[in-house]
Amino acid sequence: MNDETPMRQKAMQAAAGATPMMAQYIEIKTANPDSLLFYRMGDFYELFFEDAEIASAALGIVLTKRGKHLGEDIQMCGVPIHAANDYLNKLIRLGHRVAICEQMEDPAEAKKRGSKSVVRRDVVRLVTPGTLTEDDHLDARSANYLAALAMVRHGETDFALAWADISTGETFVSDLAADQLGDEMARIAPAELLLSDATRAALVERHLFAPAWGGIASIIAPELADSEAALPLLRSSFPSEAFDPSALSRAGRAALGALIGYVGESQKGRSAPLRPPLINAASASMAIDAATRSSLELLITQRGQAKGSLRQAIDLTVTAPGARLLATRLAAPLRRADAINERLDAVSRLVEDTLLRGRLRRDLKSAPDLARALSRLALERGGPRDLAAIGKAVGAALELAQHLRAQPDLPSILDSLTQTLGAAPQALASELAAALDDELPLLSRDGGFIRPGYDARLDEERALGRETRAVVAALQARLMDETDVRSLKIKHNGVLGYFVEVPAAHGQKLLEAPHRETFIHRQTLANAMRFTTTELADLEGRIAQAQGAALEIEQAIFTRLRDETLAATSQLQGLAGALAELDVTAALAEVSATRGYCRPIVDDSLAFAISGGRHPVVELMVKSEGQSFVANDADLSGSEESGGGSLWLVTGPNMGGKSTFLRQNALIAVLAQMGCYVPADSAHIGVVDRLFSRVGASDDIAHGRSTFMVEMVETAAILNRATRKSLVVLDEIGRGTATFDGLSIAWAAVEALHETTGCRALFATHFHELTSLAKTLSRVANVTMKVREWEGEVVFLHEVGPGAADRSYGIQVARLAGLPAPVIARAKQVLDVLEQRSAGTASSSQKASVLDDLPLFAHQPPPAPKGKDPVHEALDAVRPDEMTPRQAIDALYQLKKLRDDASRS
Ligand code: ADP
Ligand code: MG
Repeated sequence: MNDETPMRQKAMQAAAGATPMMAQYIEIKTANPDSLLFYRMGDFYELFFEDAEIASAALGIVLTKRGKHLGEDIQMCGVPIHAANDYLNKLIRLGHRVAICEQMEDPAEAKKRGSKSVVRRDVVRLVTPGTLTEDDHLDARSANYLAALAMVRHGETDFALAWADISTGETFVSDLAADQLGDEMARIAPAELLLSDATRAALVERHLFAPAWGGIASIIAPELADSEAALPLLRSSFPSEAFDPSALSRAGRAALGALIGYVGESQKGRSAPLRPPLINAASASMAIDAATRSSLELLITQRGQAKGSLRQAIDLTVTAPGARLLATRLAAPLRRADAINERLDAVSRLVEDTLLRGRLRRDLKSAPDLARALSRLALERGGPRDLAAIGKAVGAALELAQHLRAQPDLPSILDSLTQTLGAAPQALASELAAALDDELPLLSRDGGFIRPGYDARLDEERALGRETRAVVAALQARLMDETDVRSLKIKHNGVLGYFVEVPAAHGQKLLEAPHRETFIHRQTLANAMRFTTTELADLEGRIAQAQGAALEIEQAIFTRLRDETLAATSQLQGLAGALAELDVTAALAEVSATRGYCRPIVDDSLAFAISGGRHPVVELMVKSEGQSFVANDADLSGSEESGGGSLWLVTGPNMGGKSTFLRQNALIAVLAQMGCYVPADSAHIGVVDRLFSRVGASDDIAHGRSTFMVEMVETAAILNRATRKSLVVLDEIGRGTATFDGLSIAWAAVEALHETTGCRALFATHFHELTSLAKTLSRVANVTMKVREWEGEVVFLHEVGPGAADRSYGIQVARLAGLPAPVIARAKQVLDVLEQRSAGTASSSQKASVLDDLPLFAHQPPPAPKGKDPVHEALDAVRPDEMTPRQAIDALYQLKKLRDDASRS
């Protein structure tokens, strides 16, 4: 930062009248204006001024005052060190950034420079939502991405997005067209988005800046996103031969440079172990825009919950890294048939071999989160447990490789996983196992984590420490004898160190001869007196020395083990990736095998033929309620020659199962292309390049956001972006406006999809008029959700069959929903007339008598005719008091039979 900035000058003036400590505070705060400053003072992090007000309100902690500054009270609040993580977590979740400022020297050192001198302090880390690494702050089963968006204006504007999870080291960079930005951001869902003011302004101007991005945006200095300056930075950050930063686009370099620069700044020089970036992965995956993602509830439901999402339904992974990879794959199904089939081959092998699958899953369970442990170690935040986790993961990898090696003819993915797992650094694991004790502290700071027997010098110092402690006990016994004070104790505390303590009543005795020769008075308390002796002071020195020496040795061992581990970083990261991939493969196999899924045929055709398809999430729900899910076929297959895929118009009553049917087919495409079996008896799918799913306004009103306008904007996006290879699912589009508008728009949309796009499509609608399109458009077919009517009630069969529904059954559904009987009856009257009128058969007098006869309840419609229900009649005849149990059972069977007969007639 430039020393001459006005802010700096102002701060200097402000600091001029301050105490030395306040001056230091103000200087550090000025250098970190966008963060709350956690200023270390002894066992607390203190916050001052405005920071204190913000934090006390956000955390619900007391706001106090500490002295005055420029004549005004200084607001202050603090959090104790031991609880700082919780508070930090809360602040980050609320969207704050925190700068951690530590004491950089022992306060005793500062005192040596004079009584007024201040302990040296410095910011050691910026904590922001995108740069978290501690388990306390992270969801173990979700990635935490930091993203940087850069723009290069060279005539055409190019964008690039770089993103990384610094807790695992995974790094990506992608060039994006303007219309891909939203899709990619929705897929990655970063915790923090870096961009310069200029980039933001350009996005806003072009209506590309989604409102949700405001909450995660961190504005960075333009220098940080400079495509030229990025080159040397990228070369030094990724020295690996395999990655050549000059091959990136300018925008790509700028974005990745900004990301690396920001990570460096926030970690204050410690380098996060970022892996060489994966480039342009976006083009390898099925394009799924934000609206489709949310409507299909891939990772979370539209209400923001995990429960009810596809992810939750199929996530049977047994490790956290596996769960993260599964989510990543679910969010980015592949687009190349050969890559998809490779994954399916691997899954298929584990579907067939139940024994192997079980074995792998059992061993995977014991593999800790290697990548996150490694990141913490690299950022000097790791402890003994992280080292142990790495050793354990390596051990698990070798076990797994054993199981796999015993298998003949492994499919290519499993084969290469076996290679990677088998090459795990065994020597490192053995070394870690030998060095680290069974019970480990979180931090290396206090020692006590090296196994006895590992280091002779350490054992010696520890023994010395133990011995001297025995000597202390002996000394206590001797002093007790000499003074004849039975209650004499040798104790230890942080202030006095070791001391002799006797009850107050005996204190006087030790102050007098002959004991005063031995005992040196230290402290008098209300009921005790404390002394030291030269011998005790001497012993204390030896104990402290032994402890210090032991601690030093442990620290040295820790540093060595850490360095040895970090030397294998890239190999270990590869291993972490292999473990996660094996977990995902085995988990998908488990889902596939246990839920009766089938392996889809995936190729480059325009096929989409599903027989006996089910909805992976609704099926689980329906089954958990003890009912069965009705499987349905779909065939949207087409060919280039015939002009593309088919479009099915799905009609049927509300609650008939239209939405479920539509979504299940979209989800089957997602599952197939992520490399999973699908819930169906058989499936043949030509790779889908883009998937679109839209729900009309009526279904989305609860969301508050969806107006007819939004619906139309989204429909426009589909019509503009879908290709022949896309799959489009439109659920009741056109509902949000007057009937004729909506109908006309839906009509035109169907025509356009059929004539221009030629994509495979499912279109659910309550506009029955649309069904006549099947007569003129060759690849349009009508299907309907079957219902059965019985005594004026509808029974939903959830079965898809050919044909078109002639009615919406809205009134029946209204009755099921509990609308009062008179309203239902009146609605029926109105409907009859409206239907006759549109058919041209209603006489004007009929209209007058029914429709003009308002208000609605001026005349009560006749009560619903009392049906002569045989079941009721039989029930009335039953006299429970007079029946034997046997007769009661017979009567029950009789009643059921009556009901069944009635429903058949
Ligand atoms: P629609 O869109 O036609 O109004 P939905 O698809 O929302 O109908 O389905 C309504 C409910 O019916 C679902 O919540 C589900 O419980 C049930 N359902 C739908 N399809 C099936 C099916 N194939 N098998 C069993 N139950 C189903
Ligand atoms: Mg619906």
